[in-house]
Amino acid sequence: MSSELELEFSGLATDKIWMRQCIEIAKSNVDPIGNKTVGAVMMGFSRGLYTGCRHTFINHNNVPHKTIHAEQFIIWEAGEDARGAELYVTMEPCAKRWHNNSNYHYPSCVEYIIRAGIKKVYIGKLDKDFGGGGVQALLKAGVQVVHVLGMEKDIAALNENQRVEPIVQEEFKEFINEV
Ligand SMILES: [Zn+2]
Repeated sequence: MSSELELEFSGLATDKIWMRQCIEIAKSNVDPIGNKTVGAVMMGFSRGLYTGCRHTFINHNNVPHKTIHAEQFIIWEAGEDARGAELYVTMEPCAKRWHNNSNYHYPSCVEYIIRAGIKKVYIGKLDKDFGGGGVQALLKAGVQVVHVLGMEKDIAALNENQRVEPIVQEEFKEFINEV
């Protein structure tokens, strides 16, 4: 059991191909606030294939008011086929999420993954905002976590290439200050 509590590493070509797919899917996210662009691919237990990216919804004032994370989306899509599945995702899943302007916590992707019964998560990059907290929480819950090596630069570039409208960006700064 203790051997399962360690982050594994992979340089396998097959894992890189899956992670490359995640990067391509992440690009289909239209996120006007330049937030984290994340893509995911999941092989369901019954071999169904699912894809998901981050979705940001903007209100009539062009202010972001709701975000669905890539992992959350893919788990909804897969339903029961997520049980025992293997998930590839560009970023380490989040360990904590806050509702805007309140102390209410949305379920984090880590919680969704554990609840869905996903058995293995491959990540391309650690999330500096969580400092490995997402990985640690998954490992603690008995989910295997594999860091696919050599993809960090391309994943970081996903966010650099975002087109950000200055006005929206300013509004978003206020928005996150309120959180
Ligand atoms: Zn998340």
